Amino acid sequence: MRKICIINQKGGVAKTTTTINLATALAANEKRVLIIDLDPQGNVGTSLCVQNEKTTYDLIINDADPYDCIVNVSPGLDIITSDSSLAKAELIMSGQTSRETILARKLEPIFNYDYILIDCPPSLSLLNVNALLYANEAFVPVSTDFLALDALKKMSKTVSEINELFDHDIKITSVIPTLYDRRSKACVATLKEIKRGYEELVTNPIRMNSKLREAPSQGKDIFEYAKRSPGALDYKKLALLVMEAEEYA
Ligand code: ADP
Ligand code: MG
Repeated sequence: MRKICIINQKGGVAKTTTTINLATALAANEKRVLIIDLDPQGNVGTSLCVQNEKTTYDLIINDADPYDCIVNVSPGLDIITSDSSLAKAELIMSGQTSRETILARKLEPIFNYDYILIDCPPSLSLLNVNALLYANEAFVPVSTDFLALDALKKMSKTVSEINELFDHDIKITSVIPTLYDRRSKACVATLKEIKRGYEELVTNPIRMNSKLREAPSQGKDIFEYAKRSPGALDYKKLALLVMEAEEYA
Protein backbone atom coordinates (compact mmCIF):
# COMPACT_ATOMS: atom_id res chain seq x y z
CA MET A 1 0.00 0.00 0.00
CA ARG A 2 1.49 3.33 -1.04
CA LYS A 3 0.69 6.12 1.40
CA ILE A 4 1.22 9.43 -0.33
CA CYS A 5 0.65 12.97 0.82
CA ILE A 6 0.09 15.61 -1.83
CA ILE A 7 1.70 18.53 -0.13
CA ASN A 8 3.13 22.01 -0.59
CA GLN A 9 3.02 24.79 1.97
CA LYS A 10 1.94 27.11 -0.83
CA GLY A 11 -1.75 27.39 -1.79
CA GLY A 12 -3.12 27.32 -5.33
CA VAL A 13 -0.45 25.02 -6.75
CA ALA A 14 -2.96 22.29 -7.78
CA LYS A 15 -2.72 19.97 -4.77
CA THR A 16 -6.45 19.26 -4.77
CA THR A 17 -6.68 19.09 -8.58
CA THR A 18 -3.79 16.62 -8.60
CA THR A 19 -5.21 14.51 -5.76
CA ILE A 20 -8.60 14.14 -7.46
CA ASN A 21 -7.44 13.51 -11.00
CA LEU A 22 -4.47 11.31 -10.13
CA ALA A 23 -6.72 9.23 -7.87
CA THR A 24 -9.33 8.89 -10.62
CA ALA A 25 -6.72 7.89 -13.18
CA LEU A 26 -5.24 5.28 -10.82
CA ALA A 27 -8.71 3.85 -10.15
CA ALA A 28 -9.29 3.65 -13.91
CA ASN A 29 -6.20 1.43 -13.99
CA GLU A 30 -7.88 -1.02 -11.61
CA LYS A 31 -6.12 0.29 -8.51
CA ARG A 32 -8.01 0.60 -5.24
CA VAL A 33 -7.63 4.19 -4.11
CA LEU A 34 -8.62 6.14 -1.00
CA ILE A 35 -8.46 9.93 -0.87
CA ILE A 36 -8.29 11.51 2.56
CA ASP A 37 -9.15 15.21 2.59
CA LEU A 38 -7.08 16.84 5.29
CA ASP A 39 -7.88 20.40 4.24
CA PRO A 40 -10.66 22.14 6.26
CA GLN A 41 -11.75 23.76 2.99
CA GLY A 42 -13.20 20.36 2.06
CA ASN A 43 -12.59 20.90 -1.64
CA VAL A 44 -12.28 17.24 -2.58
CA GLY A 45 -15.85 16.37 -1.59
CA THR A 46 -17.27 19.55 -3.11
CA SER A 47 -15.36 19.02 -6.37
CA LEU A 48 -16.67 15.48 -6.73
CA CYS A 49 -20.13 16.25 -5.38
CA VAL A 50 -19.90 13.79 -2.49
CA GLN A 51 -20.74 14.26 1.14
CA ASN A 52 -20.61 12.03 4.15
CA GLU A 53 -21.96 12.48 7.62
CA LYS A 54 -18.66 11.35 9.14
CA THR A 55 -15.61 13.29 8.08
CA THR A 56 -11.88 13.50 8.77
CA TYR A 57 -12.79 15.45 11.91
CA ASP A 58 -14.78 12.49 13.27
CA LEU A 59 -11.92 10.18 12.45
CA ILE A 60 -9.31 12.30 14.25
CA ILE A 61 -11.29 13.73 17.15
CA ASN A 62 -14.40 11.62 17.70
CA ASP A 63 -12.77 8.24 17.52
CA ALA A 64 -15.03 7.20 14.64
CA ASP A 65 -14.37 3.85 12.98
CA PRO A 66 -12.34 4.77 9.85
CA TYR A 67 -14.54 2.52 7.73
CA ASP A 68 -17.63 4.53 8.78
CA CYS A 69 -15.94 7.68 7.46
CA ILE A 70 -15.27 6.23 4.02
CA VAL A 71 -17.67 6.91 1.18
CA ASN A 72 -17.48 5.28 -2.25
CA VAL A 73 -17.38 7.64 -5.23
CA SER A 74 -16.89 5.37 -8.22
CA PRO A 75 -15.49 1.89 -8.84
CA GLY A 76 -12.14 1.68 -7.10
CA LEU A 77 -12.30 5.17 -5.60
CA ASP A 78 -13.26 5.99 -2.00
CA ILE A 79 -13.02 9.23 -0.02
CA ILE A 80 -12.93 10.49 3.52
CA THR A 81 -14.29 14.00 3.15
CA SER A 82 -13.62 17.02 5.34
CA ASP A 83 -15.32 20.27 6.19
CA SER A 84 -14.63 23.45 8.15
CA SER A 85 -14.93 21.62 11.48
CA LEU A 86 -11.46 20.23 10.78
CA ALA A 87 -10.00 23.66 11.54
CA LYS A 88 -11.01 23.11 15.16
CA ALA A 89 -9.34 19.72 15.22
CA GLU A 90 -5.91 21.21 15.31
CA LEU A 91 -6.59 23.08 18.53
CA ILE A 92 -7.93 19.95 20.18
CA MET A 93 -5.08 17.80 18.88
CA SER A 94 -2.46 20.20 20.18
CA GLY A 95 -3.47 19.33 23.76
CA GLN A 96 -3.29 15.56 23.23
CA THR A 97 -0.40 13.21 23.87
CA SER A 98 1.63 12.04 20.87
CA ARG A 99 -0.28 14.66 18.94
CA GLU A 100 1.91 14.28 15.84
CA THR A 101 0.94 10.66 15.22
CA ILE A 102 -2.81 10.75 15.87
CA LEU A 103 -3.69 10.27 12.20
CA ALA A 104 -1.28 7.35 11.81
CA ARG A 105 -2.89 5.60 14.78
CA LYS A 106 -6.45 6.22 13.59
CA LEU A 107 -5.66 4.95 10.09
CA GLU A 108 -3.87 1.84 11.28
CA PRO A 109 -6.84 -0.49 10.55
CA ILE A 110 -6.93 0.59 6.90
CA PHE A 111 -4.87 -1.66 4.67
CA ASN A 112 -7.04 -2.75 1.76
CA TYR A 113 -6.00 -0.12 -0.80
CA ASP A 114 -3.25 0.13 -3.37
CA TYR A 115 -2.97 3.89 -2.88
CA ILE A 116 -3.90 6.31 -0.14
CA LEU A 117 -3.67 9.92 -1.28
CA ILE A 118 -3.89 12.69 1.30
CA ASP A 119 -4.86 16.15 0.10
CA CYS A 120 -3.01 18.44 2.51
CA PRO A 121 -3.76 22.01 3.57
CA PRO A 122 -1.38 24.79 2.50
CA SER A 123 0.50 25.38 5.73
CA LEU A 124 2.96 23.76 8.00
CA SER A 125 0.36 22.78 10.53
CA LEU A 126 -0.06 19.95 12.99
CA LEU A 127 -2.40 18.34 10.46
CA ASN A 128 0.37 18.30 7.89
CA VAL A 129 2.90 16.94 10.36
CA ASN A 130 0.38 14.15 11.02
CA ALA A 131 0.06 13.50 7.29
CA LEU A 132 3.82 13.37 6.81
CA LEU A 133 4.23 10.95 9.72
CA TYR A 134 1.56 8.62 8.34
CA ALA A 135 2.72 8.62 4.73
CA ASN A 136 5.91 7.20 3.31
CA GLU A 137 5.91 9.29 0.16
CA ALA A 138 5.30 12.96 -0.54
CA PHE A 139 4.28 14.25 -3.96
CA VAL A 140 4.91 17.97 -4.27
CA PRO A 141 2.94 19.84 -6.93
CA VAL A 142 4.76 23.04 -7.85
CA SER A 143 3.29 25.75 -10.01
CA THR A 144 5.77 26.62 -12.71
CA ASP A 145 5.67 30.30 -11.94
CA PHE A 146 7.90 32.69 -10.10
CA LEU A 147 8.91 31.56 -6.57
CA ALA A 148 7.97 27.94 -7.26
CA LEU A 149 11.42 26.74 -6.40
CA ASP A 150 11.36 28.55 -3.11
CA ALA A 151 8.31 26.60 -1.99
CA LEU A 152 9.87 23.36 -3.18
CA LYS A 153 13.09 23.96 -1.24
CA LYS A 154 11.05 24.75 1.88
CA MET A 155 9.15 21.49 1.45
CA SER A 156 12.36 19.46 1.10
CA LYS A 157 13.70 21.07 4.26
CA THR A 158 10.49 20.34 6.17
CA VAL A 159 10.56 16.69 5.11
CA SER A 160 14.18 16.29 6.28
CA GLU A 161 13.39 17.97 9.60
CA ILE A 162 10.37 15.74 10.22
CA ASN A 163 12.40 12.62 9.44
CA GLU A 164 15.15 13.66 11.80
CA LEU A 165 12.92 14.84 14.60
CA PHE A 166 10.63 11.82 14.59
CA ASP A 167 12.95 9.13 13.27
CA HIS A 168 10.67 8.72 10.27
CA ASP A 169 11.44 7.84 6.68
CA ILE A 170 9.22 9.74 4.29
CA LYS A 171 10.66 10.70 0.92
CA ILE A 172 9.69 13.18 -1.75
CA THR A 173 9.24 10.75 -4.62
CA SER A 174 7.57 13.05 -7.16
CA VAL A 175 7.81 16.71 -7.97
CA ILE A 176 4.89 17.57 -10.23
CA PRO A 177 5.20 20.79 -12.27
CA THR A 178 1.72 22.28 -12.61
CA LEU A 179 -0.03 25.17 -14.36
CA TYR A 180 2.52 24.89 -17.13
CA ASP A 181 2.31 27.17 -20.14
CA ARG A 182 5.01 26.48 -22.69
CA ARG A 183 4.41 29.85 -24.38
CA SER A 184 5.47 31.61 -21.23
CA LYS A 185 9.20 32.19 -20.88
CA ALA A 186 8.89 32.25 -17.11
CA CYS A 187 7.23 28.82 -17.06
CA VAL A 188 9.83 27.29 -19.37
CA ALA A 189 12.67 28.74 -17.29
CA THR A 190 11.12 27.59 -14.02
CA LEU A 191 10.56 24.06 -15.32
CA LYS A 192 14.21 23.91 -16.38
CA GLU A 193 15.29 25.05 -12.95
CA ILE A 194 13.05 22.50 -11.20
CA LYS A 195 14.52 19.73 -13.39
CA ARG A 196 18.05 20.89 -12.63
CA GLY A 197 17.40 20.72 -8.89
CA TYR A 198 15.26 17.59 -8.66
CA GLU A 199 16.17 15.59 -11.79
CA GLU A 200 14.57 12.16 -11.88
CA LEU A 201 11.91 13.10 -9.31
CA VAL A 202 10.30 15.52 -11.76
CA THR A 203 7.24 14.12 -13.56
CA ASN A 204 5.62 15.22 -16.79
CA PRO A 205 4.30 18.79 -16.43
CA ILE A 206 0.56 19.33 -16.08
CA ARG A 207 -0.37 21.95 -18.63
CA MET A 208 -2.54 24.96 -17.93
CA ASN A 209 -5.96 23.86 -19.11
CA SER A 210 -9.27 25.63 -18.55
CA LYS A 211 -11.12 22.28 -18.45
CA LEU A 212 -9.26 21.45 -15.24
CA ARG A 213 -10.60 24.65 -13.73
CA GLU A 214 -14.16 24.03 -14.93
CA ALA A 215 -14.54 20.36 -13.99
CA PRO A 216 -14.96 20.87 -10.19
CA SER A 217 -17.82 23.35 -10.69
CA GLN A 218 -19.69 20.53 -12.46
CA GLY A 219 -18.84 18.07 -9.68
CA LYS A 220 -16.74 16.03 -12.08
CA ASP A 221 -13.19 14.78 -12.43
CA ILE A 222 -11.38 15.69 -15.64
CA PHE A 223 -11.99 12.30 -17.26
CA GLU A 224 -15.71 12.57 -16.82
CA TYR A 225 -15.81 16.24 -17.78
CA ALA A 226 -13.45 16.36 -20.77
CA LYS A 227 -11.69 13.10 -21.37
CA ARG A 228 -9.74 14.26 -24.41
CA SER A 229 -8.54 17.52 -22.90
CA PRO A 230 -4.83 18.21 -22.29
CA GLY A 231 -5.59 18.05 -18.56
CA ALA A 232 -6.99 14.52 -18.87
CA LEU A 233 -4.03 13.40 -20.98
CA ASP A 234 -1.50 14.87 -18.55
CA TYR A 235 -3.05 13.25 -15.47
CA LYS A 236 -3.34 9.92 -17.30
CA LYS A 237 0.35 10.10 -18.12
CA LEU A 238 1.16 11.01 -14.53
CA ALA A 239 -0.75 7.97 -13.24
CA LEU A 240 1.22 5.66 -15.54
CA LEU A 241 4.47 7.17 -14.28
CA VAL A 242 3.38 6.79 -10.66
CA MET A 243 2.45 3.14 -11.23
CA GLU A 244 5.90 2.45 -12.67
CA ALA A 245 7.41 3.22 -9.29
CA GLU A 246 5.71 0.39 -7.42
CA GLU A 247 8.89 -0.38 -5.51
CA TYR A 248 7.46 2.02 -2.92
CA ALA A 249 4.37 -0.16 -2.38
P1 ADP B 1 -4.42 23.85 -4.10
O1 ADP B 1 -5.18 22.64 -3.65
O2 ADP B 1 -2.95 23.63 -4.15
O3 ADP B 1 -4.77 25.08 -3.33
P2 ADP B 1 -6.12 23.72 -6.45
O4 ADP B 1 -6.01 22.33 -6.93
O5 ADP B 1 -7.34 24.07 -5.68
O6 ADP B 1 -4.82 24.13 -5.63
O7 ADP B 1 -5.95 24.66 -7.71
C1 ADP B 1 -6.03 26.08 -7.60
C2 ADP B 1 -6.87 26.62 -8.78
O8 ADP B 1 -6.17 26.37 -10.00
C3 ADP B 1 -8.21 25.93 -8.90
O9 ADP B 1 -9.15 26.88 -9.34
C4 ADP B 1 -7.98 24.89 -9.99
O10 ADP B 1 -9.16 24.57 -10.70
C5 ADP B 1 -6.98 25.60 -10.88
N1 ADP B 1 -6.08 24.68 -11.61
C6 ADP B 1 -5.35 23.68 -11.10
N2 ADP B 1 -4.60 23.08 -12.05
C7 ADP B 1 -4.87 23.72 -13.21
C8 ADP B 1 -4.41 23.61 -14.57
N3 ADP B 1 -3.50 22.70 -14.93
N4 ADP B 1 -4.92 24.47 -15.48
C9 ADP B 1 -5.83 25.41 -15.14
N5 ADP B 1 -6.29 25.58 -13.88
C10 ADP B 1 -5.83 24.76 -12.92
MG1 MG C 1 -6.47 22.33 -2.02
